[in-house]
Amino acid sequence: MRNTFLSFSLPSIGEEEVNEVVDTLRSGWITTGPKVKRFEEEFATFVGSSAALVLNSGTGALHVALATLGIGPGDAVITTPMTFCSTIHVIEQVGARPILADVEPDTLNIDPNKIEDTLQLATCNLKQKVKALLPVHLYGHPCEMSAIMDIAKKYNLRVIEDGAHALPAKYKGRLIGTIGDLTAFSFYATKNLTTGEGGMLTGASGLIEEARIWSLHGMSRDAWIRYSSEGSWYYEVIRPGFKYNMPDILAAIGIQQLQKLTQFQTRRKEIVSRYNEVFSGYEELQLPVKRPEVDHAWHLYVIRLNLGRLKISRNQFIEELKKRNIGTSVHFIPIHLHPYYRDKYGYKPDDFPITYREYQRIISLPIYPKMTDQDVKDVIEAVGQVIDRFHC
Ligand SMILES: *Cc1c(COP(=O)(O)O)cnc(C)c1O
Repeated sequence: MRNTFLSFSLPSIGEEEVNEVVDTLRSGWITTGPKVKRFEEEFATFVGSSAALVLNSGTGALHVALATLGIGPGDAVITTPMTFCSTIHVIEQVGARPILADVEPDTLNIDPNKIEDTLQLATCNLKQKVKALLPVHLYGHPCEMSAIMDIAKKYNLRVIEDGAHALPAKYKGRLIGTIGDLTAFSFYATKNLTTGEGGMLTGASGLIEEARIWSLHGMSRDAWIRYSSEGSWYYEVIRPGFKYNMPDILAAIGIQQLQKLTQFQTRRKEIVSRYNEVFSGYEELQLPVKRPEVDHAWHLYVIRLNLGRLKISRNQFIEELKKRNIGTSVHFIPIHLHPYYRDKYGYKPDDFPITYREYQRIISLPIYPKMTDQDVKDVIEAVGQVIDRFHC
């Protein structure tokens, strides 16, 4: 057993990031400026989207996306209960109604068939009109985008993707960030690429320009243009915009992280292979899926316990791993179980039966490029020990 605690997640920050930040601090321009512009350009090139907008969080990116598409009071957005709360909060924050559709049992991504069922129910029973779909590429495995885009076309809906886990991930050869109307990424400290806090929105140039206005006070020209030599003091406020811009100090980190992203992904895939190799030998575990038509970003490696083969619950399994100095997490506590949403919409746990059932047996294991081979072995050993001790 290891004698130090293995964190569930740690960032990979090197001298390159440190130097780029110091360069920014010394440059005299610390908020949104040339580094943000460079980060946007390099990111758009990387994912192959026509444009990109840097923001100070993934949540901000989702919020701006809804505002940009004009989604507000009287509208509804269909999304998944198996996600982080902010995916749903932003729908509430623009005054629209979130509608949840249950997930596929294998990927735990929103189920396109359930979207259609939900749409049919919504036309009869809802005061609000469904305007958009908000799929989340859970754990980094892309959603069934062909089916989702077909539904969007058939019902004339916009598609906003929560790509917080899906950098870089591909669906049928296309990188996430190039499929729906707008895609939001997160650069939170645990994400595949981090700036500490941060986010990015990708999409067509026209939409990204509208999003840019929403992201900075609704001003028609941004500060960089205003204060540079070719700019002027004059601006106009044309939307009641947000304050979601990222400072150059953080974009500096992003620029260097992007350089390393492919390397990071190679390491994540190595860890996945080791885990899969050993864990496939246990009947007590169900391994994460990867469908043949996708490239998985492997943001998270989530095992599922076959609870019938174990004497302990998921929560106890987590405690046992913690005793063995292994940090883990659960992604996610379903939206409809949280008191705010449960009480507001009267949800029962079984309203989304697959989400609820799977929630009770998921555990996210550590997976990050900084893990050493020994760290990976320690996780494997600890999981094996807990199974040996508590299997039926
Ligand atoms: C991290 C995350 C977000 C929010 O991103 P922030 O940058 O923390 O605001 C949104 N959705 C999902 C699925 C996430 O994991």
